[in-house]
Amino acid sequence: MTFSFEANRPGLTLGIVGAGIMGRGIAQIAAEAGITVLLADARAAAVEEAQAFCADIINKKAAKGKISESEASAAIARIQATDAGPDKGYAAFAGCDVVIEAAAERLDIKHAVLRGVEAAVSDRCIIATNTSSLSVTSFAAAARIPARVAGFHFFNPVPLMKIVEVIGGVLTEAEVIESLVQLAQRLGHYPVRTTDTPGFLVNHAGRAFGTEALRIVQEGIASFADIDRVMVEAAGFRMGPFELFDLTGLDVSHTVIESIYRQYYEEPRYRPIQITAQRYAAGLFGRKTGRGFYEYLDGKAQKPAEAAVPQVDVAAVPVWVSDRHPQAGAAVRAALAIAGARLEQGAQPSAQALIIVTPFGEDATTAALADNLDAARTVAIDCLFDLERRRTLMKTPLTQPEFVQAAHALFAASGKPVTVIEDSPGFIAQRIIAAIVNIGAEIAQQKIASPADINKAVELGLGYPLGPLALGDKHGAARILAILEAMQSFYGDPRYRPSPWLKRRALLGISLMTAC
Ligand code: NAD
Repeated sequence: MTFSFEANRPGLTLGIVGAGIMGRGIAQIAAEAGITVLLADARAAAVEEAQAFCADIINKKAAKGKISESEASAAIARIQATDAGPDKGYAAFAGCDVVIEAAAERLDIKHAVLRGVEAAVSDRCIIATNTSSLSVTSFAAAARIPARVAGFHFFNPVPLMKIVEVIGGVLTEAEVIESLVQLAQRLGHYPVRTTDTPGFLVNHAGRAFGTEALRIVQEGIASFADIDRVMVEAAGFRMGPFELFDLTGLDVSHTVIESIYRQYYEEPRYRPIQITAQRYAAGLFGRKTGRGFYEYLDGKAQKPAEAAVPQVDVAAVPVWVSDRHPQAGAAVRAALAIAGARLEQGAQPSAQALIIVTPFGEDATTAALADNLDAARTVAIDCLFDLERRRTLMKTPLTQPEFVQAAHALFAASGKPVTVIEDSPGFIAQRIIAAIVNIGAEIAQQKIASPADINKAVELGLGYPLGPLALGDKHGAARILAILEAMQSFYGDPRYRPSPWLKRRALLGISLMTAC
């Protein structure tokens, strides 16, 4: 039996069940790509609403001159309403080449749709589900012909998120995947082939950013706003983890965090933090409820002000910088020289000196003790990213306030913003970046997707400045490994155990993109 279609064939017909947010987005891009779309929904009015919604967007494109009037009206005419659905069956879908199910996220509902569709379509029609969190194999289990069933996971908003995961269930035929890959290309989307695993690729790769940030808050290291500032201004992310939680909505994010953790049988790398459960219970979902990690006034997040830069005569403070990490030490010295600091040159700090250490993965306490330095005068600075951006400082429990203030003033003297946090193995950025790289490496290790697709999918689907493996290569696999090992050793928590993919490539000194 052949389960395939010629994706570029004129007259290709796509059935969509569920004309909600996702169904209408898929309908719009398919119609614009010249594909005939048959729409069905359990609620008849939903189909008309979806048609009107798509027509409005397509007409606006024509008004802006992005497409011609005739192209617009032809695309609109290609989105056809049907009376198919749970009550009347799916006879209207008899001639479909492919059907995408985008109904509610419940396996019983999806199984009923699958059975209804399969009773109507030809044996060669491909059936795909847009599920975000259910197993494609479980979905396909209700099919008469599971070999023709796959996942085709779009992201919201479909026309703007130019990526779709093409997911093979355990029984899916390879030709089904190839046809869907070609269909994605016709729709102008980047197809990422993934295996049927919890969260597939993008939602799996997204586990580190939010949960590690929550872990930092839970441990009292830094505030939501401080973490967001560091991840945006120092690490170059478009949005901080808490801004992202507020945008997505905690009703969605908290559910995904718990679901992926459970589906991976409580894998510590994905362990949730109780903060989201609490805030979920309180209804603090984010922008949609007017309050999440931030409060929203007229749609704008109200961010707490930062601590003022202490007034310190920076030229009066002798500063000694550790050379344990020579490159980082040199960068810190250069930054301090610009700020007019009194730099000490000795092998050991003088009795009055402010002591600066530049640990990777260690906290300030461990870094001070490792070199027999006075913890009461020690301040650590994060050198994972260059010091031209926001700078993160951290103190030991013993660091005296006057030394913290002096360090703050010195590193802010050239006009750079400074964040001061409590002691933390890996500051903020190091631990979040290391966690992102580690989970990306584990996705590669489990052969969920190819290294190139892991990077591309994360850039397109999560909007990170770089995909996880490219991020690891940028900082060096050995450095990321060292950060993770230091965190694992400090906390004794298997959450931070390095993925074998990362460890081997770090030991061999090769790129994280190197496939087996
Ligand atoms: P939605 O609630 O906007 O739309 C679902 C539509 O399905 C509704 O119009 C509803 O009337 C219809 N429906 C419900 N039961 C039906 C049935 N038995 N037969 C036919 N139609 C039925 O939901 P959505 O956000 O479009 O999500 C649809 C699917 O896409 C879900 O599986 C969801 O997990 C997945 N998804 C959602 C997003 C997202 O960000 N919203 C992203 C990716 C995937």
